[in-house]
Amino acid sequence: MSPLLLSVWLFVLLLGLCLGSFLNVVITRLPVMLMREWRTEARTALELPVESQSRFNLAVPQSLCPVCEAPIRWHDNIPLIGWLKRRGRCADCHTRISVQYPLIELAGGILSITVFALFGLGWESGFILAACLMLLALAVIDFRTQLLPDIITLPLLWAGLLYQLLFQPLMLPSAVIGAMAGYLVLWGFYWLFKLITGKEGMGYGDFKLLAALGAWLGWSFLPLMLVLSAGFGAMVGLALQANPARRGMPMPFGPFLAMAGWAALLVGDELMAAYLALVI
Ligand SMILES: [Zn+2]
Repeated sequence: MSPLLLSVWLFVLLLGLCLGSFLNVVITRLPVMLMREWRTEARTALELPVESQSRFNLAVPQSLCPVCEAPIRWHDNIPLIGWLKRRGRCADCHTRISVQYPLIELAGGILSITVFALFGLGWESGFILAACLMLLALAVIDFRTQLLPDIITLPLLWAGLLYQLLFQPLMLPSAVIGAMAGYLVLWGFYWLFKLITGKEGMGYGDFKLLAALGAWLGWSFLPLMLVLSAGFGAMVGLALQANPARRGMPMPFGPFLAMAGWAALLVGDELMAAYLALVI
């Protein structure tokens, strides 16, 4: 490999690690921001005095240790290296820092390399990487909080339609049908399940997420993605059943949809060929 090419790939890796680091901020702060917003809205609707709140968004305050609230120094905040250097502990109070941070950074790096290796160094890869990273953020937020924020699912849907318009205009009709059918199919399952059992099996965020995947991949991928996500979900569900402490706990569906989405985005053609060989 020539030194120039090597430095390009190193840049791709660093870009992915930094994007992963930004995803950590989104994953930990966005649910808190939404909760604060809903609380304020609810108090306004109930005509209760609105509490004064300190500023809190993706940029403010700067990264703090959750326990001792010491600011994290810039050199401890370098993706992956910062966490490894401190052996996963805060530099001030030595409390353990979640392994989620380096794992998400690493996932960002791996996704970045994989996408650019599969789809080449170009704008198309940039779009696909953005979709993969949004799916990663949604999967982890849903796993942690059982929320799939509209502020990520809806832009993911629009970005999917834009991607088709720019790179595969002939796919656009299939993408529009995919977005509508993706939403409708889970909406239908939701109501069927609710009418039969009286329980809510999933949330509206799941419908929007499958709509977004329909936009990115076209309607023909919807059955495959439902089979894959239900398969992943069943495997994890059975594993959880084996653990008595976890039995009966609600299980978010978003992470499994996101996994199916990654698989279809990255190796969709191979998956589709294998699926059709099995079905037909
Ligand atoms: Zn600390």
